[in-house]
Amino acid sequence: MSAIYNFCAGPAMLPKPVMLKAQSELLDWNGQGVSVMELSHRDKAYIALAEKAEQDLRDLMAIPDDYHVLFMHGGGRAQFAAVVNNFLGDAGQALYLVDGSWSSIAADEAEKLVGKTHIDRLNIVNKNDDMSQVELPHLHAIKKDYRYVHYCPNETVDGIEIFDELDSPWPVVADMSSTIMSREIDVSRYGLIYAGAQKNIGPSGLCVVIVHQDLLTLPSLPQSSIMDYRLAVKHGSMYNTPPTFAWYLAAKVFEWLKEQGGVKSIAAINQQKAALLYHCIDSSDFYQSKVNVDNRSNMNVTFYLADSELEMLFLEQAKQAGLLALKGHRMVGGMRASIYNAMPLEGVQVLVDFMNAFATEHG
Ligand code: PMP
Repeated sequence: MSAIYNFCAGPAMLPKPVMLKAQSELLDWNGQGVSVMELSHRDKAYIALAEKAEQDLRDLMAIPDDYHVLFMHGGGRAQFAAVVNNFLGDAGQALYLVDGSWSSIAADEAEKLVGKTHIDRLNIVNKNDDMSQVELPHLHAIKKDYRYVHYCPNETVDGIEIFDELDSPWPVVADMSSTIMSREIDVSRYGLIYAGAQKNIGPSGLCVVIVHQDLLTLPSLPQSSIMDYRLAVKHGSMYNTPPTFAWYLAAKVFEWLKEQGGVKSIAAINQQKAALLYHCIDSSDFYQSKVNVDNRSNMNVTFYLADSELEMLFLEQAKQAGLLALKGHRMVGGMRASIYNAMPLEGVQVLVDFMNAFATEHG
């Protein structure tokens, strides 16, 4: 069978060497005679694995020492609530920048928990001639005392990415689910970063949270213990049983990324992959991007066929060619190729060759 390339937005493909390693030690991990799935999270060997995963992530992202790194349950959406519960006690207010679908959903969740009067929402995407363009607001001009400003640097559904870091008078809380470790960032500019694992980290069910220690002194709302950052810190992310297998696979992904030369090296490849695909889209009238050049995501490339009647055929033939999960999110339609760290350049080249051939045949 020829190679299969999986462009799913999440759960996304994982690096092949990681999957092979996990397969080889599935039944007997680390000479323990049992699978890592069957081992107590309190076992010394498991704790060593967990600590190494944290250290590798700290190395990869150059996380300063005054930040805690947490491995939590519940994916990205759990953090939509956790951020509110942990930081908006005592009638605190927060600003939510909306640059696409997920940041809007995060704002909805915050409003649901504390009411609209505590959440200000600011749309930062302009749509001119059907093209989305982000305009970052001048936050210092807003005279409000927010506990934090929340935004999503990479909108997975819309294919919109914000490459500039925010200049904010308040701590920045960023949903980096679909961009974490795809390019270098300066962690010290953020109050809190969270990322559901199922794109650039590992399997679903796990969420990495990187939080500055000062934020943990903000008044919090009553909440479930497993979402409480302070408890998670106190118990080394093991207040209750963590998703041990997901954490183990994340550890393997971090090791793999280090072997690739780290975030800087993978970012250069990511840039190449995205450039190849956007060039293909831009060089024919058959395909169309609806995102302004400056805000096109390097991870989630959204595009449309000029003739939408051909979409089904495109998806069917792509699948036959081994190119999976190219259907756009149901909220926006069209196509989407998610090209996270694990997607090799060859996969994007095969997709581009397919797209060019399809356009020639049907254009
Ligand atoms: N934020 C972003 C940017 C996402 O892409 C997703 C899921 N694709 C979520 C949040 C929600 O994550 P989860 O399904 O893990 O709750």
